[in-house]
Amino acid sequence: MRILVTGGAGYIGSHTVRMLEKAAEKVVVYDNLSKGHQQAVNANYFVQGDLFDSQLLAETIKKNNIDSVVHFAAFSLVGESMQNPRAYYQNNVQGTLNLLEVMLESGVNKLVFSSTAAVYGEPECVPITEAAAKNPTNVYGRTKLIMENAMADYSLAHGLNYIALRYFNACGADPQADIGEDHHPETHLIPLILQACLGKRESIKIFGDDYPTQDGTCIRDYIHVNDLAQAHVLALQALYNGKSSSVYNLGNGSGFSVKQVIEAAEAVTGQSIRKDIASRRAGDPAVLVASSEKIKAELGWKPEYQDIKSIIKTAWQWHQNNPEGFN
Ligand code: UDP
Repeated sequence: MRILVTGGAGYIGSHTVRMLEKAAEKVVVYDNLSKGHQQAVNANYFVQGDLFDSQLLAETIKKNNIDSVVHFAAFSLVGESMQNPRAYYQNNVQGTLNLLEVMLESGVNKLVFSSTAAVYGEPECVPITEAAAKNPTNVYGRTKLIMENAMADYSLAHGLNYIALRYFNACGADPQADIGEDHHPETHLIPLILQACLGKRESIKIFGDDYPTQDGTCIRDYIHVNDLAQAHVLALQALYNGKSSSVYNLGNGSGFSVKQVIEAAEAVTGQSIRKDIASRRAGDPAVLVASSEKIKAELGWKPEYQDIKSIIKTAWQWHQNNPEGFN
């Protein structure tokens, strides 16, 4: 396996790169560093480049004899996507179409694609299976669904073999605590809570306590980033073994409300933080919980971290060791 990882300097990308290195002949990270951190990857195999730079992409593929791609490079914030859809359509849709073009021209037809639970929107029943209706409630989810549909069409017409992985809520950090979540600005729940626990923020805002859930706050399925990373290794191996194109959910199958996550983090850190109730965030469905039975049955995926506190503990170690992130 000689793999190009776009967005490999990002949060999920860098954790996946670390696992791919153990399984692959070659791993080349291609990242424009608009969000990622070069410190998160080994410089020997790093190329700073943009998805829209077709020439550099093609050269990188050729020079390294690449035969598959794992594509993380994308914008991924629900709130931001509602305020700036243009950036999301350009980067996530046009950028990915550009990558597909270069791949096909270069004779590379294996692709693992980062998709999201946001493709489902407000689910009719939980846990959500891959067959559930897809009605995204935010622009981010729509851009990912558009690309899933495009890949299905390319698969039929141009021989692309892809696996799309629909992540639920990625969290945690490698237990070595030298790579982890570091976004600027940070918008994700668990890092924000942990920054408050470190005294770097005054409080945590709870976006809505009037949802139709037990405590009124949104319920999500939190999955450890290394368990996500492991799924990419399995997906690639399946494609190399001739598996046809497919789509899989990746979650733990249990839901936690925003309030429950805050309580769990307070228990792990031994800190108590101020909570302010704020208005709902545009585009947020009330409940997202995965059924991941399909990837367990077909690819033998088994998440290692199933307890929310043990997941938060790994994130806490990263934040304590690196209070300023990678800087
Ligand atoms: N959330 C919150 N306060 C925050 C950030 C997030 O209440 O400061 C909520 C958010 O509305 C969602 C959940 O926490 O219900 C997880 O949000 P996050 O941004 O971490 O991930 P997403 O679900 O957008 O992928």
